[in-house]
Amino acid sequence: MLNDRIKIKEAPSRVGDKVVIFGWVEDKRIVGGVAFLTVRDPTGVIQLTVKRDVNKDLFMKAGAIPRQSTIKAGGIVRKYGETYEIVPNFIHVLSIAKHPLPIDPTGRTDTSLHKLIQNRPLSLRIPAINAIFRLRALTKQVIREFFIEKGFIEVDTPKIIATATEGGANLFEVDYFGKPAYLAQSPQLYKEQLTMGFDGVFEIAQFYRAEKSHTRKHLTEFTSVDLEVAYADYNDVMKILEELIKYIFTEIPKRGAKELEILNYKPPQPPTEIPRITYNDAIDIIRRRGVDIKWGSDIDGEALDKLAEEYPGFYYIIDWPWDSKPFYIRRKGDLSESFDLMMGKLELSSGGTREHRYEHLRRNLKEKQLNVESFEYHTRFYKYGMPPHAGFGLGLDRLMTIITGRENIREVVLYPRDPETVAP
Ligand code: ATP
Ligand code: MN
Repeated sequence: MLNDRIKIKEAPSRVGDKVVIFGWVEDKRIVGGVAFLTVRDPTGVIQLTVKRDVNKDLFMKAGAIPRQSTIKAGGIVRKYGETYEIVPNFIHVLSIAKHPLPIDPTGRTDTSLHKLIQNRPLSLRIPAINAIFRLRALTKQVIREFFIEKGFIEVDTPKIIATATEGGANLFEVDYFGKPAYLAQSPQLYKEQLTMGFDGVFEIAQFYRAEKSHTRKHLTEFTSVDLEVAYADYNDVMKILEELIKYIFTEIPKRGAKELEILNYKPPQPPTEIPRITYNDAIDIIRRRGVDIKWGSDIDGEALDKLAEEYPGFYYIIDWPWDSKPFYIRRKGDLSESFDLMMGKLELSSGGTREHRYEHLRRNLKEKQLNVESFEYHTRFYKYGMPPHAGFGLGLDRLMTIITGRENIREVVLYPRDPETVAP
């Protein structure tokens, strides 16, 4: 079937050749005795021109094809003013589109996000939406490339687990042959364990959080980019994350130039250096800007607005209060060796130095009021030479909103899951 196929973007280099294309009919006009079909594939768009005088049967056939039907056509490529056309000698309808369509796949009329998601496959025929998901694939490729180049090993941790990673909040329970099990909310404990045998591990995978958050930045199923590095502390992994951010925001504008042009959007410049603001300094800044915030509390809402006014780009908030962090983070007095990577008001990543000392880890569990014994399946490895290690989790979906300039996380996820939506 695909033998002599060209992608539509190749047409300009094939003027005068006989070619075959596959695609869908985006538009159709009949002007006088000429049928013009606008045919698109994921790479581009071209016009098929059929004159009644030249081929009456084909003219009649072309005129009768409903928009969005999928076709195969063959003919000679010609220059047509500033663009290109194919004068076909055959058109096969491979799959007919029934009307009315549930959305307008030309993107000319505004369709609600809800409807676009409900009709996701059809919405991929809208060039801007197609571009978003090509950029997403490219971003994953670029991230993999970066980690592999650094010598990190890609791993796969389980998504079905018997115990809660961080104490049980936000976990989806599933029925595992009559016993309760949970969907993993992060690869945290596994990726830490794996530093026993690898210098660095990474994973790009979906994780699950049963949060009833109705925001533009939370999903119940999200994709996390996780890294964990042996013999490293939080300064080391902040450096790696900074390099990764620079790499992404340098490579995507180059390799995704066509897609960004379709979106008519320029992602932020790669930062030269990502500033690090301590939690304590952040609190001072927020108070100086007139918002009363209690030491120890999370930075969100109006407090975060104020901080983002001072730091509109990428920045780190480091050294969070120990009380606000999970048990596996390394304690530093009242504080912890931890960081969040922010882009303005949006948290993109959290990370830190991990506690690798068995007794300290058990003490941390106790302080967080977790059952020390039920974590023994994990902590026991810390008795046998667990290296010091550090890492982070970076939200891919949130990152994609920054790369593509979208407001809502649902726009950059093919089949988003939120508290309202579990689609078939
Ligand atoms: P938030 O406070 O914004 O809810 P979090 O601090 O609970 O996020 P972490 O546990 O630190 O999230 O997870 C690491 C990263 O994973 C976050 O910085 C974010 O980018 C992403 N992430 C976490 N939860 C979600 C979610 N429900 N939907 C989308 N991305 C998420
Ligand atoms: Mn976080």
